Order: sequence, then structure tokens, then C-alpha cells
Amino acid sequence: MTVTTKRDLIAQVAAQWHAQYYRNGEWKPVLDDASERIYEQLRHLPESAREADVTAIISNDAWTTIRCTECDRNVGVAVVFAGGDKTTLTLCAQCLRTALFRLEDSEYGDPTGHPTNSMTERKDAQHD
Ligand SMILES: [Zn+2]
Repeated sequence: MTVTTKRDLIAQVAAQWHAQYYRNGEWKPVLDDASERIYEQLRHLPESAREADVTAIISNDAWTTIRCTECDRNVGVAVVFAGGDKTTLTLCAQCLRTALFRLEDSEYGDPTGHPTNSMTERKDAQHD
């Protein structure tokens, strides 16, 4: 499980672009052969660069989008769970809170995952 943020993606976008489009000593032709020019622009982005700055260079927001698997919103931060079969699950804070609430609200909601004794307590309360 890792936490990823837009700030992380923006900071890594030049390196990611290079890894994607530079192979065997040459740039792969993408976007009208602009892959090297785009890399140079990404590489010179200031540390304070924002998502819009990256989008303006690449012409899409695919490199900075963090899309929650559950609610499909583009969020600023999310937790990424990587499955053994290379599938990933990206969840935003709101969906994680909802999931946690549902877990804790179930009859197995105590931290050990064992059934709570709330039924016993209710029976005791009825005898009073
Ligand atoms: Zn979500």
C-alpha cells in the first residue's frame, strides 16, 4: 500500500515521460515527434509547478490524474493497493472513510475482527 499525491506525480512526470518515450538511445515518435521537446519542458518545470502547468505542456491530464477506483473522482491524494496480479486499487480518503465506517459498523467491527458482544449486552439490558 502506498500513498500517492498529485505533488508526487508532478515531481516525477519528467522522469516518467523519459522512461515511457526514450528507448535504445532515441525518442519514440509521439505527438508529432515532440516527445523530446516535451521532456525538456517537463524537466525544467519549477518545484512549485502545478497540475495545470503539466497539462499545458502535454495537452492532457493523464500524467497527473489520480482517479479513485470506487467513486471515479480525480483526487489530490489516494491510497494505492497493489494486488499480486499487478492490478491496483486506488481509493480516495472519502471512500476509505466510508469503507472503514461500514467495517466498524458491522457485527465484526471491533479491532480484532471478532464478533462484538453487543448481542449479549442487549440481552442483559432486556433482563433489567
Ligand atoms: Zn473515492
